[in-house]
Amino acid sequence: MKNSSREQVLKTAFEQHLPEWFALVRRAMPWRVNRTPYRVWVAEIMLQQTRADQAAPYYRRFVRTFPSVRALARASLRDVLKAWEGMGYYARARNMHKTAQHLMNTRGGRFPRTYEELKQLPGIGSYTAAAIGSLAMNLDVAVVDGNVIRVLSRVFGVDEPVDTAAGRRIIQGFAESLLPAGRAAEFNEAMMELGALCCTPRDPRCEKCPLSAVCRACGLGRSTEYPRKRRRKAVPHKVVGAGVIMDRRGRVLIAQRRTQDMLGGLWEFPGGKKEPEETMPECITRELREELGIEVKVGELVTVVHHAYSHFTMELHAHRGRVVKGRPRAIECADCAWVLPDELREYPMGRADQHIVAALLQEDAG
Ligand code: SF4
Repeated sequence: MKNSSREQVLKTAFEQHLPEWFALVRRAMPWRVNRTPYRVWVAEIMLQQTRADQAAPYYRRFVRTFPSVRALARASLRDVLKAWEGMGYYARARNMHKTAQHLMNTRGGRFPRTYEELKQLPGIGSYTAAAIGSLAMNLDVAVVDGNVIRVLSRVFGVDEPVDTAAGRRIIQGFAESLLPAGRAAEFNEAMMELGALCCTPRDPRCEKCPLSAVCRACGLGRSTEYPRKRRRKAVPHKVVGAGVIMDRRGRVLIAQRRTQDMLGGLWEFPGGKKEPEETMPECITRELREELGIEVKVGELVTVVHHAYSHFTMELHAHRGRVVKGRPRAIECADCAWVLPDELREYPMGRADQHIVAALLQEDAG
């Protein structure tokens, strides 16, 4: 195909077939109604690590609890983390809270109206700025998320790995050159929806795709070979011990993680990584001595939780125990508290610790 006629076919595919397809399949999502910069921002932060159908109920709850920048800025960090509970990647919630306070302090809670200014807000990178700018303000900026990367790498058969700066530049260039002026909101959303519903990672439905006539990877029968990625290193595996320490009144000891640590601000059953030569009771005993300054006697196993984070996998062994010496004080944590099992759910916790709470409450009920 000559260059000029390929350009024409590309234009027709992206500017005509894609919007027609999108009008037919567009899913009703809570962030697609009443689209304000604040609501788009919350949605985009949630959707960075979570699938749309999974994020929808969390989104509804979050914007009901904090309907504006002002409400989010005024809330306590604990309430924000609680509303975020279950979504994972809690740094997102902490950063949103900080950004909301910054917006209140510097701009009366209003978002700036240009892409450049949006990008300069703390905690808002170029991707989120593009999403807020295009979806809520219809600014002519291309949104390039994982779905868009997959679609464009396939349509253009991009051989450069997309997780390199060079690969990202190529994809960004395609996205910008295809963006129809004045229609950024519709275009960006249609591209993201295509990646989510049709051009899926393992099972693309090329026969139903509005771009199939122009797609290089599909034409070669090699759709799933794109996007190209660099070879990944093996993900480390950690074995971790946690103490479910109870006192005579039936209260459980929990600790709050330091803000600067992973899952900062969340509460957990105290413990830490097992050293190779230790038994699990030895690990829990040492960790609680270091973290809380107490000596404990470790008892029976409550549960083992397997959990995958983005950069490691974890096997968490939770054991019951009791304090034999000392009073807990926050040495290597932000705070600690004795809490009745029924009250544990009031404390924001990561998913692995929520599993321990569930196992504990189930045991107590049984
Ligand atoms: S034709 Fe297939 S591989 Fe190409 S964009 Fe469409 S779904 Fe993806």
